Amino acid sequence: MKVLVVNCGSSSLKYQLIDSETEQALAVGLCERIGIDGKLNHTPAGGEKVVMDDPLPNHEVAIKNVLAALTDANHGVIKSLDEIGAVGHRVVHGGEKFATSVVITDEVMKAIEECNDLAPLHNPANLIGINACKNIMPGVPMVAVFDTAFHQTMPKEAYLYGLPFEYYDKYKIRRYGFHGTSHSFVSKRAIDVAGLDPKNSKVIVCHLGNGASISAVKNGESVDTSMGLTPLEGLIMGTRSGDIDPAIIEFIAHKEGKSIDDIMTILNKKSGVHGMSGVSSDFRDVRAAADSGNEHAKEAMGVFAYRVAKYIGSYVAAMNGVDAIAFTAGLGENDGKMRASICAYLGYLGVELDPEENAKRGFENIITTKDSKVKVLAIPTNEELAIARETVALV
Ligand code: ADP
Repeated sequence: MKVLVVNCGSSSLKYQLIDSETEQALAVGLCERIGIDGKLNHTPAGGEKVVMDDPLPNHEVAIKNVLAALTDANHGVIKSLDEIGAVGHRVVHGGEKFATSVVITDEVMKAIEECNDLAPLHNPANLIGINACKNIMPGVPMVAVFDTAFHQTMPKEAYLYGLPFEYYDKYKIRRYGFHGTSHSFVSKRAIDVAGLDPKNSKVIVCHLGNGASISAVKNGESVDTSMGLTPLEGLIMGTRSGDIDPAIIEFIAHKEGKSIDDIMTILNKKSGVHGMSGVSSDFRDVRAAADSGNEHAKEAMGVFAYRVAKYIGSYVAAMNGVDAIAFTAGLGENDGKMRASICAYLGYLGVELDPEENAKRGFENIITTKDSKVKVLAIPTNEELAIARETVALV
């Protein structure tokens, strides 16, 4: 079966058309800088990459362009959309309703929509993706694979907030965590590449993209992760603040005469390295500005790295040790400078980065020296393959 996997991020849309029997991607692609300007990279297997720079003002336009690329006479890989047997969609928030993947029905769509408030940058983008595919491919089964599912193994110590218990009882306010498909996939690959025993392993996965989160994975199960009820908690991100003193919300509201909604927009869309640097939400832009001497951009990258290092320290405590640390996602896979800045804090763990290996990218790699006490790895994530497997299992 050919499975189209659609992964709508906050500023990007990744897709793959995967042959489920061979597990090979027939075509892979990436829409980048959605809402900024827009670029679509489409690569048919064994073919040349085609770059299209039509504007991508929103995700709906991005998906339409993807389907056109897949069926294009020159660089397409299928004759018609009928060849697509199923679509697997990454969906960010499943609340407590969805602890596993599900076939998408009208009821499921409604339940996903009910979670929009919890993931304001992502769930609406996911729904736009599902609706666009449903309109163009009616009758094709679709599956939702939730980012929250992998973290359902977290113990109460990790998922309860220090709030009156009634809020958990009444509203299920707790920590859920996100990027679960990636944390699951990358932790398994890290265990394999580092040669660890899956049943006796302590791995920290740093998923550093526009959205960013860290997880502590003990013996293959998530025991803690940095995102919480929503993806706003934890690390500094492209546009999100991550952890702040909650009292800041009231402080800004009073000083600037803003509503809670205004403040949430600031925390979700105007903060992070974007707000700190005043340059961009795209880490490449911020890196370029930092490299050319922009002080705020340098500060933003420095604060970002420090926050990651602090989380790594807390997860070493949570697991009473660590065997391997894996970097993944856009920034984690590609920005060796960022990995080096983070690892500079990890001398106490006996981490010894190998600068030559750390400069490489694009494949699974151990980037520490042979003497390093903890192995650090760069592992390209493959959420799409993980989603395709779940999709086939359900349809
Ligand atoms: P998301 O799905 O949350 O949008 P991605 O995993 O696609 O996140 O990562 C996107 C981020 O990765 C962007 O901010 C982009 O700038 C960053 N990125 C990609 N390539 C590089 C690179 N070579 N150097 C630094 N950052 C990069």
